[in-house]
Amino acid sequence: ERRKLAAGNWKMNGTAADMAEIETLAQERSDATCEVLVCPPATLLERLARACEGGPVVVGGQDCHAEEKGAHTGDVSAAMLKDAGASYVILGHSERRQDHGETNEIVRAKTKAAWDAGLTAVICVGETLSEREASNTLDLISGQLAGSIPDKANGHNLVVAYEPVWAIGTGKVPTTDQIGEVHSMIRAKLEKRFGEGVGRSVRILYGGSVKPDNAAEIFAVSHVDGALVGGASLKAKDFGGIIAAL
Ligand code: 13P
Repeated sequence: ERRKLAAGNWKMNGTAADMAEIETLAQERSDATCEVLVCPPATLLERLARACEGGPVVVGGQDCHAEEKGAHTGDVSAAMLKDAGASYVILGHSERRQDHGETNEIVRAKTKAAWDAGLTAVICVGETLSEREASNTLDLISGQLAGSIPDKANGHNLVVAYEPVWAIGTGKVPTTDQIGEVHSMIRAKLEKRFGEGVGRSVRILYGGSVKPDNAAEIFAVSHVDGALVGGASLKAKDFGGIIAAL
């Protein structure tokens, strides 16, 4: 049985004052049966990890470099995230793919680096609106999965997040049929490539405008093992409401 995962992606939001939201969340959701992950900006990672120690919330990074160390000004390595207290790292988010030109090959290299450092990679895939309108969503996502996920993936080192680009931060959410179609395809691809047992153990999250009032409906779709939440993960009340629906 796959353990449900509620993951928050703070993106470029949050300073020390905002950590109180997670402290509140940890208190209110101390009995959560799902796993709760918060990925703050790198500047808060170590402090948040310390504040969450021993509680129900684990922390992760939002990106890492593919190299272990070296002359890469401004970048952060997987080992540095681990050292700061992270157990997860989001990789290949559509904002990284768009703003930083990250290709599937780059995401794959970063994932290997994350695994070498002992982190679980949350690999993001998803189509843009024009790709969906050209109705090649499933092909596009299959290509992203094949190109971004290295060999030797398993239920411990990999989580896949399906995030339609047009649903991120827009308030637009795919129908449950559309979500189900993509998640079933992802499950089938994982089983085919990594074997049934492994394929079944990898968690598949949905991301894109998840809110407390639509979470239950989304979580009822088969092969939806949780959510990757942006805006609504910044407030204890909203993220707590989503966790309660899992
Ligand atoms: P929103 O929940 O703000 O739509 O963002 C989703 C997302 O990109 C999470 O990684």
